[in-house]
Amino acid sequence: MARALSLPKAWPGAASAAVSLSFDVDTDAAWRGFNGDGIAERLALMSQMRYGAVRGVPRVLAALAATDVRATFFVPGATALAYPDLVRRILSEGHEVGHHGHHHLAPHKISVAQQREEIERGLEALTPLIGAAPVGYRAPFAEITPETLALLVEHGIGYDSSCMGDDRPYVEEAGASAILELPIEWRLDDAPFMLKTEDDGSLDHAGDVLRQWSEEIDQAADERRSTTIVMHPEIIGRGARVVHLETLIREARERHALWLAPLAEVAAHLRDEGIEP
Ligand SMILES: [Zn+2]
Repeated sequence: MARALSLPKAWPGAASAAVSLSFDVDTDAAWRGFNGDGIAERLALMSQMRYGAVRGVPRVLAALAATDVRATFFVPGATALAYPDLVRRILSEGHEVGHHGHHHLAPHKISVAQQREEIERGLEALTPLIGAAPVGYRAPFAEITPETLALLVEHGIGYDSSCMGDDRPYVEEAGASAILELPIEWRLDDAPFMLKTEDDGSLDHAGDVLRQWSEEIDQAADERRSTTIVMHPEIIGRGARVVHLETLIREARERHALWLAPLAEVAAHLRDEGIEP
């Protein structure tokens, strides 16, 4: 179930829309625990994921610095343990680090005990690096269950960004649990358009997805709402794609006054405006 929330009377800086760029830093380290089945032996697939840590994140950070944008990076605990300096660099450049499981296990495919372990090990890995518990959560594979929602509430997570029930902040509910949802949507995710592995996926739709994101920002500005774009450093951080992202940001700013902010700041702004779950 879900509950709608009103939009804030204003966004900071009198912006017409709040736009959050978010990056899921999955990496080889997180995927090693992914459902077993010998995935760690697949060196090429692991290297494709490792690229995100080696080259993707630095490219993305450079693009964000060049456009003066602060964003949200959802980091699995195993990624944080394998690449702590990368997480420190993300934080030192002013970005938010959120929770993205530990071994990137899909909540709906594991037991409740495993779900608890994913949440708690992720918190244990991220909290010392951040210096506080992460404020937000995005589920691996963008799927949560009623048990996930209860675990998030139990562990004091302030918002979730995995569900798709509205195109503006709302409350996602299951049983007695409720959480502020900063929603996403497959159309606003780089993976369905641009991720190709041996198993599945497609390539060369960069133009399509960038046009869709640009149109999404236009419509968000028309409706004075917020929107969230989902990216992966191993995908958007390849070659010239990150240049296209920079162009998208610059052109959108020429058309609209935008508040480009990490999701935690959007959540804090809603709270300041008295809009709470
Ligand atoms: Zn992920």
